[in-house]
Amino acid sequence: MGSLVKDYFAAKQGQTPDQIYHVTVMPCYDKKLEASRQDFYSDLYRTRDVDCVITTGEVEKMLEKENVTLGQVEGNTAYCVLSGFGSPDGGLGSHLGGGSGGYLEHVMRYAVSQIHGSSVDSLQYKTLRNQDFQEVTVEIEGKRPLKMALAYGFRNIQNIVQKIKRGKMTYDFVEIMACPSGCANGGGQIRPMEGQTNNELLQRVKESYDSVPCVQPDLWPGVKDIYEEWLGGVDTEKARAMLHTQYHGVEKVASALNIQW
Ligand code: SF4
Repeated sequence: MGSLVKDYFAAKQGQTPDQIYHVTVMPCYDKKLEASRQDFYSDLYRTRDVDCVITTGEVEKMLEKENVTLGQVEGNTAYCVLSGFGSPDGGLGSHLGGGSGGYLEHVMRYAVSQIHGSSVDSLQYKTLRNQDFQEVTVEIEGKRPLKMALAYGFRNIQNIVQKIKRGKMTYDFVEIMACPSGCANGGGQIRPMEGQTNNELLQRVKESYDSVPCVQPDLWPGVKDIYEEWLGGVDTEKARAMLHTQYHGVEKVASALNIQW
C-alpha cells in the first residue's frame, strides 16, 4: 500500500512522493515499527512509504476526544481516486477468507488454477490442535495434492518452526499470523465495550468484514489495470521492486525474553 500511494497515487496527482503525507490505520502497534524499516525509505525523496501509522483503537480515542462518530466524518477525494479498485459499486471490497487479514484462501485457489488448471468450489479446512492451526488440502485426480496451513499465535508458529527444523514440513504454503485469530484480534484494535466479551467483539468484527462485498483480486479489472498501468505487467522488475520486500537478520540482543525455538 505504501508504494501504491507514494509512487502510483502521487504520480497520478502530479506530485512527488515527499509531497504526500501517508497515514494508515492498522490493527497493531507493530505496524509502526514496520513502517519505520529502512527498506521503506526513499533516499531520493527523503520520505517513507508510510509516514504515520495509527491503530483503530487510537482512531476511536481521537474521535471520542473530538466528540464525533465515524459516520459524521466527511469523506475526501483521495479515497475516491483509489475506490475504483475496490468492490463493483466503487466501495470497499474484501477477499475470500480474509477476516484474519490473511490470503491463504486466495493463494490456494490461485495455485489450483495456475498449477493444475482447475478450480475449487469451497475449501475444506481441517482443524489441527486448535482453531488457530488448520490445514487445507486440494486433491485433483492424477495431480499432486496441494497442501497448505494457517498457524496463528506464537504457540502454533513454534509448532511450524519445529516441523521445519525436523525436516517434517509437508506444506506448500503456510500463512503465519502473530496474533491468535489474526489481525481481527490485533493488539491495537478497539477494546470491547462494557459488558461485552473479547470473543463477542471478535465475532462482530468478523461479521462486519464478511458483510463487505467479496472481490477475487486476480479477476478484478481494477487490479489488472493497475498492474498494467503502474507496473508494466505482473511479473516485471518494477512489480518486484514495488510489491516485494526482503527481510534481514537482526542482531540478537542478549535478554531473558529471548525464546529458544
Ligand atoms: S497478526 Fe497481529 S501482529 Fe500481525 S499484522 Fe495482524 S495484528 Fe499485527
